[in-house]
Amino acid sequence: MEVSKELLDKIKKIKFFVMDVDGTLTNGKVFYSKNGEELKIFSIRDGMGIELLRRGGIEIGIITSEHSPIVEARANKLKIKNLILGSRNKKKDLNDLLNQLPFDSSETAFIGDDVNDIEVMKFVGLSACPSDSNKNVKEIADYICSKPGGEGAVREFAELILINQNKSIILPENW
Ligand SMILES: [Mg+2]
Repeated sequence: MEVSKELLDKIKKIKFFVMDVDGTLTNGKVFYSKNGEELKIFSIRDGMGIELLRRGGIEIGIITSEHSPIVEARANKLKIKNLILGSRNKKKDLNDLLNQLPFDSSETAFIGDDVNDIEVMKFVGLSACPSDSNKNVKEIADYICSKPGGEGAVREFAELILINQNKSIILPENW
């Protein structure tokens, strides 16, 4: 894919990749069992994108407004230590996290889908959204994925960064 010089300059700086969960790592839908238990569906292909980023030396994080044991389980599985649950101000919470990490906002990428992601998307160096995001989010995103949330948007954004940083988007034989 052809990227503009402006977008390429932003991509080159990225060392930290942060994601929203609902509508980004998932399709935004929640199943409820009759016992009130919540279930969400995640994409294994997005998970592989996260593994590829890590292999490319990029740190990973999650910021969600939800307080969900499902998200904790998914973050554990993907070995993501930078996990913020129950955020009511993603920009502030990301800023607090960055104060403890060796990166600044210009070295941070964020992908989100809804209006509670807009401020943090304006704050970071590179922002993206799934194809089915809220229209106000699409208006301010640096990159709009061709794939929807939970269906490959995160993998697409991960590969955009890796390819344009001249890093691998495939795995070695024994990984
Ligand atoms: Mg969301």
